[in-house]
Amino acid sequence: MNSIQYSVVVPLYNEEEVVNETYRRLKEVMNLTGESYEIIFVNDGSKDNTLEIVKDICINDKNIKLISFSRNFGHQIAITAGMDSSSGNAIIVIDADLQDPPEVILEMIKKWKEGYEVVYGKRIQRKGETFFKKFTAKVFYRSLNKMTDVNMPVDTGDFRLIDRKVCDALKSMPEHNRYVRGLVSWLGFKQTAVEFVRQERFAGETKYPLKKMFKLASDAITSFSYKPLKIATCIGSIFTLLSMCYLIYSIYEVLIGGAILALMFLLQGVTLITIGIVGEYIGRIYDEVKERPLYVISEKDGF
Ligand code: UDP
Ligand code: MG
Repeated sequence: MNSIQYSVVVPLYNEEEVVNETYRRLKEVMNLTGESYEIIFVNDGSKDNTLEIVKDICINDKNIKLISFSRNFGHQIAITAGMDSSSGNAIIVIDADLQDPPEVILEMIKKWKEGYEVVYGKRIQRKGETFFKKFTAKVFYRSLNKMTDVNMPVDTGDFRLIDRKVCDALKSMPEHNRYVRGLVSWLGFKQTAVEFVRQERFAGETKYPLKKMFKLASDAITSFSYKPLKIATCIGSIFTLLSMCYLIYSIYEVLIGGAILALMFLLQGVTLITIGIVGEYIGRIYDEVKERPLYVISEKDGF
């Protein structure tokens, strides 16, 4: 057993408006456990004052640790770095913006003590989020589940508690384009859920613009499913068949001009989409082959 019981990992990207309040709320909750803990703030290349604020907190509180990246590597990499440096018997990952209520951690700990090795937070309601975000999230989690053989719980983010065993197993999966919650599902172990209502962001704006949401979604799909490739083959086959029929028909009708041109463009489009899908996979293979480190740390504090 490690001497530290709980490690709380908090990724931070331009969170100067929330970090003090997050620290205060987390400290309050973790003190209630009566056990030892560390809070690891991972500064993911923030451009505002986040780093300075966390450094100040570190000076006054020995339970607080800081990992600061040399640039923005992304949320999934930030939580990975936090887990890599953690030493608790249970590790809790939580967003910095207080959308995940820290008080739920106590329920997670209770389940962990009952013997569960993964306790994930399930969002039964999402407050203060746009219709677009809620809708895309709902569709995404459900279609991802249909596409993969791994059983991934719907409506759950990275807010969860994992046992030391699970954390060590995750460390043996050094893949680059990470979808951490999927990796945890893939690992198995004894898993259960704690339901909670996702709150509004305490302050500031989402650090997940559409581009990052899209990247996360495509990482999730390509990491766990070959189905897009199969769909591409399927669509390709259907169009090949259809165009062969059309060819025979046009020989009969001596149809030249507009229709054939349109068909050519259509087929070209399908070909390009197919190449694009294959490219998504090849790009990710390329990332693995290069074997670059997942992240670069510029400074550490409190360890
Ligand atoms: N985050 C990060 N790096 C990024 C984007 C986000 O570390 O490139 C952190 C962010 O500071 C927050 C968490 O990831 O603690 C979730 O981000 P956010 O709350 O903006 O996402 P949303 O809840 O809107 O999906
Ligand atoms: Mg948020």
